[in-house]
Amino acid sequence: MTETSTLRAPTAQPDTTILDAVIVGAGFAGLYTIHKLRQAGMQVRAFEAGDGVGGTWYWNRYPGARCDVESVEYSYSFSEELQQEWKWSERYAAQAEILRYANHVADRFGLRDAIKFETRVTSGEFDPETNLWTVTTDRGDVVKARFFIMAGGCLSLPRMPDFPGRDDFKGKLYHTGTWPHEGVDFSGLRVGVIGTGSSGIQAIPQIARQARQLTVFQRTPNFSLPAFNREMDSEFERSYKAAYAQHREKARFSSAGIAGHPTPDKGALDDAPDERQRVYEGGWLRGTTGFTRIYKDILSNPEANQTMAEFVREKIRRTVKDPKVAALLTPTDHHIGTKRICLDTHYYETYNRDNVKLVDVRRDPIVKITPEGIRTEAADHEFDAIVFATGYDAVTGAVLNIDIHTKDGARLSDKWTAGPRTYLGLMTAGFPNLFLITGPGSPSVLTNMLTSIEHHVEWIAECLQHLRGKGLARMEADRAAEDQWVEHVNDVADTTLFPTANSWYTGANIPGKPRVFLPYIGGHGNYRIKCADVAAKGYEGFVLSD
Ligand code: NAP
Repeated sequence: MTETSTLRAPTAQPDTTILDAVIVGAGFAGLYTIHKLRQAGMQVRAFEAGDGVGGTWYWNRYPGARCDVESVEYSYSFSEELQQEWKWSERYAAQAEILRYANHVADRFGLRDAIKFETRVTSGEFDPETNLWTVTTDRGDVVKARFFIMAGGCLSLPRMPDFPGRDDFKGKLYHTGTWPHEGVDFSGLRVGVIGTGSSGIQAIPQIARQARQLTVFQRTPNFSLPAFNREMDSEFERSYKAAYAQHREKARFSSAGIAGHPTPDKGALDDAPDERQRVYEGGWLRGTTGFTRIYKDILSNPEANQTMAEFVREKIRRTVKDPKVAALLTPTDHHIGTKRICLDTHYYETYNRDNVKLVDVRRDPIVKITPEGIRTEAADHEFDAIVFATGYDAVTGAVLNIDIHTKDGARLSDKWTAGPRTYLGLMTAGFPNLFLITGPGSPSVLTNMLTSIEHHVEWIAECLQHLRGKGLARMEADRAAEDQWVEHVNDVADTTLFPTANSWYTGANIPGKPRVFLPYIGGHGNYRIKCADVAAKGYEGFVLSD
């Protein structure tokens, strides 16, 4: 590619080196990018804010944190040896096990020496004269690289609502996404939890078991299904591993990047009510996020959706003993699946405990945090600890947290004022040699992240090798291709019920964030074919130059 590229595995280099790539983050995306680009003989450096690898699984150590994609699928497929040798202990792995896996991968493939830990990238400036990015960090690093790769995660910038008085609280404040490494013992404490998304729904049953008193502040009830998590069945593991390659290939061409999800051929209304009920019951017992894919029209037809929503509502009513509490926990303001469906372990049952109370903050809003606890319009609630399970500035947050600009003054934050614009979620016009892994406009958060990450990393690695092979130094998205892609992403989203919900998928959880459907909902398999086609046509829709 260039005079400074090398086939040697890079060791620590002085900062005058021109790297092939700087990578933001050492989660699953960053780790695989390091590995893949090094395999291609490139010099890379990753910067990671944490003091270890693992990304979301490094930060999210809250009680109950667990993946909602089955372990055999939520893992790398790039190494047959790795996938054969690693043993998952549970159907849905818990945070600590996934973090061990990330560390194992970092050690097994020798990735750590490419990573500078406890270092946050603060800016990146592209110089059109040299075609180089200059990247700076909060630790004073200034490095130059040909390519700048965003692998900082889709759900990595935690969001704390700005309640007045937050700093006055005398007890402990936690956010699920920045949980203390040493863990938290809630024994004997009065605890408040704000938020009932996936994180809250996992943490609440665990905290309730420890705390003296738990009060949950709920704004929007979510649909949640029992995960039916269990120890890994050794016979299942053996037979799954025997056909791993086929399972992975199926995942790669599936809609959600998950081989085990159903591929329905009929709609919910094609079945008679009794049969539909039987189908829902079977889906419920499988305990997967594929539940909303049992019929092909659940996420596009309100009437079909209603049949499934009502099935789950009835489950909630039957589980929660107090009918008033059950009613509060029953979602009625969005179609099932249009906010990320949750998987839980004894979530609804938790509200049958004597030490658990639910506050509906739509009827009784939080006014402020006081030194003693939380004041709502109707009451003062005293706590020793408050847990914010209030989510993230999703998909664009981590990218825009870095001051990405060009030497001639273009800023990504200006370009994306009305919402992100990308071509294939991989690049954004006007910012050459900047790649986004699972960026906005790609299937990303609607899929198994590992499938999407591997796809993007492999596509980018091939692309960089193509540029090197052709002696080209620069690549960027063509504006017309980008406009068409953005329109397509919106058009496809509009054929579904997703944009109707106030979800983080649309940016609705962040005050002032433009309301845009962030991921591409056309299906991972279709998207993969599109990306391969673009590459096969000489990177159609991108401008390549020397
Ligand atoms: P989330 O889904 O955005 O949920 C945040 C919760 O906080 C919502 O209930 C929200 O209510 C509430 N909230 C926010 N601001 C509030 C305010 N000012 N007052 C009262 N309530 C407020 O965030 P999350 O639970 O961290 O999950 C984010 C995503 O991470 C998930 O959807 C999933 O993709 C991923 N995740 C996955 C797993 C897993 O694999 N099992 C676990 C955790 C997270 P509203 O709904 O009304 O906004």
